[in-house]
Formats: sequence, C-alpha cells, structure tokens
Amino acid sequence: MKQKLLTWLSPLLLAIALSACEKAPEQIALEGKTMGTTYHIKYINDGTVTNLPSPKEVQQQLDMLLKEVNNQMSTYQKDSQISQFNTFEHTDSPFNVATDFATVVQEAIRLNHVTQGALDVTVGPLVNLWGFGPDKRLNKVPSDELIAERSAYVGIDKLAVGFTNNDPQNGKGFLIKKHPKVYIDLSSIAKGFGVDKVAQHLEKLGLQRYLVEIGGEIYGKGTNLQNHSWNIAIEKPEFSQGTSVQITVPLHNLGMATSGNYRNYFEDEQGNRLSHIIDPKIKRPITHNLASITVFAPTTMTADGLSTGLYVLGAEKALELAEKEKLAIFLIIKNGDTFETKMSSEFQKLIEQK
Ligand code: FAD
Repeated sequence: MKQKLLTWLSPLLLAIALSACEKAPEQIALEGKTMGTTYHIKYINDGTVTNLPSPKEVQQQLDMLLKEVNNQMSTYQKDSQISQFNTFEHTDSPFNVATDFATVVQEAIRLNHVTQGALDVTVGPLVNLWGFGPDKRLNKVPSDELIAERSAYVGIDKLAVGFTNNDPQNGKGFLIKKHPKVYIDLSSIAKGFGVDKVAQHLEKLGLQRYLVEIGGEIYGKGTNLQNHSWNIAIEKPEFSQGTSVQITVPLHNLGMATSGNYRNYFEDEQGNRLSHIIDPKIKRPITHNLASITVFAPTTMTADGLSTGLYVLGAEKALELAEKEKLAIFLIIKNGDTFETKMSSEFQKLIEQK
C-alpha cells in the first residue's frame, strides 16, 4: 500500500519540487545619488542568471562605477581628470585621460557636427559666467565685455581628442587644447554615458530586463515584471490642471534624454527666463520658446548630447534635422500660457509600437 501511495505521490512531489526551483521572477529596485542628482535602477531577476550577486553587492558595484565616471568627468570635483585638464595650460600637447573620458569627448565632437555646432562642450566658461556651473549661482546678467573675453576660448575647433595607435578600443585616450584656457563641460552628455555604463554592467552580470535612470536620462532593456515594454512618461513642463504626464513611450532597448528650460534657469530684471543652455552662436542662453525636447537613440550618451544640441537649435530646426537624420524626437513648445506638442516621424513610429 505504502509503495503504491509513494508512486502516486512522487510525480506530485516532483512537480511541487520543480515549481519551487522555478522561482517567480522578482523586480529589484535600487536608488542612490550621483552627479548632483539621483539614480533609479530596476532589474528583473527571473532566476535564469546563475551566481547573480545580491542587490546590495550589485549596488556597491554600480556606485563604484559611477564614482569613476565622476572622478573622470565631473567639473564639480576639483581633483577630477576633467578639472585637471581644464587647468592644464599647454597647447598642442597631449593630456592623457581615461579611455571612457576620451570616448565621451569623441562623441561630443561628433554630435557638435551633427547639430551644426549647437552642442559644444567647450562652452563651459560661458556656462560658468552665467552662473550654471560648479561656481556659485550669480543670477545676474554678465557684461558684454566679460562675455566677449570668455568667448575667445570657446569653440570645438579649439579641442581635439585621440587614442594611441588610433585605436579607441584598446588605445589610451588623450585630449589636446588649441587655446591654453579651453575649459570643457560634459554635463550635457556624461550623465547619459553613466546610464550606458550601468546598463553594460547589468548585462555583464547576465541581466537582460532592466531600466536605468540618472537625472532624467534613461535606458530600457527587455520587458518589465508584467512582460510589457518599460513605458516611460514624458512630463508636462509645468503642471497644469490634471496629470503632469504629457505622453508615455515604450522604451525597448533604447536610450532617452530630455532637455529643457523649465527646471534650471533664473530670471533677469525684466523677468525673462534665462536657461542653463547656452547657444554657442550668440554666447548667451537660448531665447526661443521650446520648453522641452526628448530624444531617443541607441545609446543614452547619444540621446543626452543630441537633446541639448537640438534644444539649442529650437523647434523648427530640430524637427528638420530629426527628419534628415531619422531621429525620434518629441517637442513641447510654449505659446503664451499654453503648450503645443510636435513629433518627428520616427517618434510617431515609436509610439505606434505601444
Ligand atoms: P542637459 O541639457 O543634459 O545639459 C545642460 C548642461 O550642459 C548645462 O547645465 C551646461 O552645463 C551644459 N551646456 C549648456 N549649453 C551647452 C551647449 N550648447 N553645448 C554643450 N553643453 C552645454 N551638478 C551639481 O549640482 N552637483 C554635482 O556634484 C554635479 N556633478 C556632476 C558630475 C558629472 C560627471 C556630470 C556629467 C554632471 C554633474 N552635475 C552636477 C551637473 C548635473 O548633473 C546636470 O548635468 C546638469 O544639471 C545638466 O543636466 P540637465 O539634464 O539638466 O541638462
């Protein structure tokens, strides 16, 4: 009798045992601070990854990696590589930097050409002059003389980047100044790079379903816990009545970045809003009515750099460039007290995937 019972029970026991091994997928959420802002990371542990470190160990690894990005590219850290480069006054002599740092500068120079000079990481002296850099906020309009004096050493033609043996993969990076006072500011692109570094680390651990966000720059891979795309909300620039969500977008193996003038600005004596984004052509904060632009690209570094550069160009030119370069972009334009939205055809296709 006992034997019979056991044979009958064993498949059931086996099934229970098996189902216990197949743990239900769980979502891990991590958050922390970096680059003067916050980060939020979600990943799905569906039991397919062997030897996955604990969430605490994963967070320690990611914090170390983000600390390294700061040590290389933070103008807010006086001992960072970028701060040392900015005070280095020799022209035409290579200044050795980490390969990642050189990679970010190389992409920034490429995107300078794509955005017709609008993204220009040498605008740092003007960003600081207008009070949007690491020095304290002045909230006052600088004199034309000071703007002209600083502008003498702004311009992407005054900066060069290279890799030993011309090999960006294995060579060592270096930068070259064409003017002793060149000062670069990577705030427009290095946060996006930080997102990509975190994403690459999660992939190295074997994770394929995750969402990484640093200060509003985001990368989404695979699906969420419900096996749907990560759906991301693009906020309305200012909260009017009702929700603050303008539109939601599926982020499937894509990077996304937003630039705008509704968070980081000050008002001059006439009440004009002066944005932290400088138009390199006029050497002053942008003056158009584009409230925000959101850009999607294969990497978040590219999306981040493009969002600042296209934001400088303004709505019309940004849309023109987006159609030419097949970029998915979404714009919110301020008309008086109301907002109007516009999107590129690539963005239209993106939201049709929902
Ligand atoms: P984005 O549009 O992404 O970038 C705009 C920024 O780019 C401006 O703030 C300016 O710095 C620069 N810029 C303006 N015009 C142009 C232009 N035409 N071309 C190129 N660049 C331009 N902030 C802190 O307050 N404390 C910190 O400790 C701190 N640490 C940082 C460390 C790192 C490594 C980085 C990359 C940034 C750090 N920041 C820090 C800055 C902060 O994280 C954001 O980068 C900054 O607020 C701009 O991000 P955004 O998304 O608002 O604007």
